[in-house]
Amino acid sequence: MIVRENPARFTEVVGRKPVSSPEAVDAAVRRAVDARRAWAALPLDDRIGALRAAVDAVEARHGELAVLLARESGKPLPDCRGEIGFALTYARWVCDQAPRVLAPAEVDDAAGRLLVRRLPYGVVACLTPWNAPVILALLKLVPALVAGNAVVLKPSPLAPMAVSEVAAALPAVEVVHGGAEAGRALVGHTLVRKVAFTGGEAAGRQIAAAAGGMLTPSVMELGGNDPALFLPDFELSEPGYERLVMASFATSGQVCMAAKRLYVPRSRAEEFAGAYLAAASRVLAVGDPLAEGVTMGPVVSAGARERIVALVADAESRGGTALRLGRAVGDLDAGYFVTPVLVTGVPEDAPLVREEQFGPAVPLLVYDTEEELLARANAGELGLAASVWSADEERAFAMAGRVEAGFVFVNTHNRTGMSLRAPFGGVKRSGYGREYGEEGMLEYVQSGVVHAPAAFRAGGAGSAPGAYPL
Ligand code: NAD
Repeated sequence: MIVRENPARFTEVVGRKPVSSPEAVDAAVRRAVDARRAWAALPLDDRIGALRAAVDAVEARHGELAVLLARESGKPLPDCRGEIGFALTYARWVCDQAPRVLAPAEVDDAAGRLLVRRLPYGVVACLTPWNAPVILALLKLVPALVAGNAVVLKPSPLAPMAVSEVAAALPAVEVVHGGAEAGRALVGHTLVRKVAFTGGEAAGRQIAAAAGGMLTPSVMELGGNDPALFLPDFELSEPGYERLVMASFATSGQVCMAAKRLYVPRSRAEEFAGAYLAAASRVLAVGDPLAEGVTMGPVVSAGARERIVALVADAESRGGTALRLGRAVGDLDAGYFVTPVLVTGVPEDAPLVREEQFGPAVPLLVYDTEEELLARANAGELGLAASVWSADEERAFAMAGRVEAGFVFVNTHNRTGMSLRAPFGGVKRSGYGREYGEEGMLEYVQSGVVHAPAAFRAGGAGSAPGAYPL
């Protein structure tokens, strides 16, 4: 049994979910296979209608689901409301785009008649993390479903409650629960035709290998170690600094595309640090996710807290200085709270800089030349997102073109810089495949061709046996 405690109050159980055995996973996949037949046979407009109705039903429970999400994930209530609202906006956007994106293409000309259709895969396995469980599930479920796939979702055991309620409103979706074992049973199932995964690199490698072993195609949305590159002419207002602070500390820094390394020109480092600390004292309020005015909750687990505290201690042992940010609201001993810090003077080879910290501790790094800046930003195996900050947009775009990342924000970072129409995903070891945009919808279809070459249509001249086409 999964017993999920509130990370802000150890003693409070938010909910329980039974762990799905391999047999239960098998049964869920087989139910999805059955459900898919009728679902895929519906006209596209009917599938869109059913999905829009499901979105409306979830929206009617928006407030209640946001509270549940806040209690299980530790994210502040406005953040949870925002995530669910954004996920529903995305779902409606997919419904709007589907008739165009999924339309078959047909040409009928002197070369013959060619029909290219968008075929669903069949049953799609979706494995998702806990940090944004609703949006990260709907980014997979909605484009998969609209195209005529059925889905088996395995949410993270660290935040399975709200997303299960959302999934229950959707047609042709099964939900299984558990950790790696349930995930392995799902990914390795012979009737699963596509795997969509968001999570960390270690699990990603195992899941990609298991899917590859079955010749099941996969989408991998993995971790990042996003650099923010402040060019010497960057301009940042007070609200700009406040947004920058939240670009690192929203969800206690546990966001794949958080600003995780801040690179600032030496000549402006002091000015930057002063304005940053002042902004953090205005916007960072650490406390219970349901309390009024709180902008940062606890981290997700005891293990996450230990890991982040150790990373900061290690950075200090290497000469870094951890500057405490924001203010505490209420009793922080009741949950897995971590004091948010900006760490200055830390060497580049410290794990806090080299690895994805995934927590509320951000290094402030100083550079001298732009070539050095670029080399340091591009170092390492991860390449999810990045940002370039400059008063000159052309200059920013030129630098952005040299940054090794799947998504480069200009003068912003993290979700404020996202767009429903912009494909999101990593380069290097941050994964492959895309979410959002048209590309994010096309992940869940493959092309299927019907072709009548002109030579073999009524009145055609035919061709020599075995001849190559013209
Ligand atoms: P995780 O990799 O531990 O778990 C993700 C999911 O995979 C969970 O459902 C988990 O139960 C399951 N799982 C774990 N090991 C498995 C295995 N061997 N076989 C099958 N299933 C397995 O990740 P997490 O801690 O939940 O999330 C944090 C990570 O996710 C961070 O690295 C973060 O950057 C990344 N992330 C990436 C994106 C993106 O869009 N690229 C978005 C959010 C989070």
